[in-house]
Amino acid sequence: MCVSDSKYQSVLTSEGMMNMFENLRKFDPAVYSLMKEELIRQQRNIELIASENIVSVEVMETMGSHLTNKYAEGYPSKRYYGGCQYIDEIESLAIERLKEVFGAEHANVQPHSGANANMGVYFAVLKPGDRVMGMNLSQGGHLTHGSPVNISGQYFDFHEYGVTKEDGLIDYENVRKIAHDIKPKLIVAGASAYPRAIDFKRFREIADEVGALLMVDMAHIAGLVAAGLHENPCEYAHFVTSTTHKTLRGPRGGIILCKAEYGKVIDKAIFPGTQGGPLEHIIAAKAVCFKEALSEKFKEYQKQVVKNAKVLSEELMNRGFKLLTEGTDNHLILVDLTNKNITGKEAEKVLDEAYITTNKNTIPFDPNGPFVTSGIRIGTPAVTTRGMKEEDMKVIAKAIDLCLTYKDIEKARELVVGLTEKYPIYNEHKLMN
Ligand code: PLP
Repeated sequence: MCVSDSKYQSVLTSEGMMNMFENLRKFDPAVYSLMKEELIRQQRNIELIASENIVSVEVMETMGSHLTNKYAEGYPSKRYYGGCQYIDEIESLAIERLKEVFGAEHANVQPHSGANANMGVYFAVLKPGDRVMGMNLSQGGHLTHGSPVNISGQYFDFHEYGVTKEDGLIDYENVRKIAHDIKPKLIVAGASAYPRAIDFKRFREIADEVGALLMVDMAHIAGLVAAGLHENPCEYAHFVTSTTHKTLRGPRGGIILCKAEYGKVIDKAIFPGTQGGPLEHIIAAKAVCFKEALSEKFKEYQKQVVKNAKVLSEELMNRGFKLLTEGTDNHLILVDLTNKNITGKEAEKVLDEAYITTNKNTIPFDPNGPFVTSGIRIGTPAVTTRGMKEEDMKVIAKAIDLCLTYKDIEKARELVVGLTEKYPIYNEHKLMN
């Protein structure tokens, strides 16, 4: 694609982006104007939510296409509806590209979300009441890894493992001990808020010792794995699930990868097990995302995500912030605010006033509950997509410090606006990806 194409010139600014929705503007000004406000917010704010990103125009175009019109229950060449010849080719392309990105034996691209992907694996291999191990939610795990408020925690007998109090790292010896004590059928590895590399080989060894299956939920780090910057769980896990919209930078959705021998049972667990018709417009956008993920440019992007997170973590520590595990190996940072006399909830609000978007997050052994928390989670995928580099991370650290230590929102906002004006969310850099 050439960025000088007039079609793409029209989206080089936030205003231009809204030109894509002219018909909507005329028919439904209420939805149109809210979409516009959201675009302005995205352009104006520094997005530091570790699970968010900014998709390419190509991914967005594919999502918003006529492919949404088609019902295609089933799988390529085994559908319950006619007229699927092109949809079959699109879904097959997505599957083949996904297998190539992660070197997987079997891929299912139909899960509507990360939660659905996890539910698919559980439905494929567990019976209600079966024992499972997952990471404690308040220590970095995800709701779908056995939280009592989630269907996973209510239908299965989940047992938690976590991190050590001393260094905040996964307590692998304790994982082993719990596994030997309870003999789970499945061990779930992977996290939503863990700033260090996860030792999947070790998890597999523990699973083998007790005859358990291993599922890795790589939702957060999938982009890093695709770029070879994190150990690939497909080498060790029986099942790997992921979202496609975090570091992988695709449409909102889920995927499951597995060894060939589990292909049939996984496919059956998604359709007809837990879902109906697949979202073929999203599957096509996943195919586009996987093509992007196979490019050199994507690898460079992921390297920059990690570099940026490192610099941001160092700058924050230099400014007196306590970070969980004292740094990061990946795209995210967990700030422990207990020495800053501010809760996670308050920090999220103050930062938002300065146009910095983050989320409050529990820290391990948090004295505050999940609605207040003592930490914030920040990540670099979205700012890196905008083109920001190490020098810009120093400015972000300064802006965060101005907000949380000096309560100088005005000054912080000036720094933020300087950056977001310099790096529009849809610019030439982005369109060249
Ligand atoms: N797994 C992990 C590790 C996650 O962090 C998330 C989302 O935050 C999910 C699963 C759920 O993904 P979704 O929101 O697409 O259901």
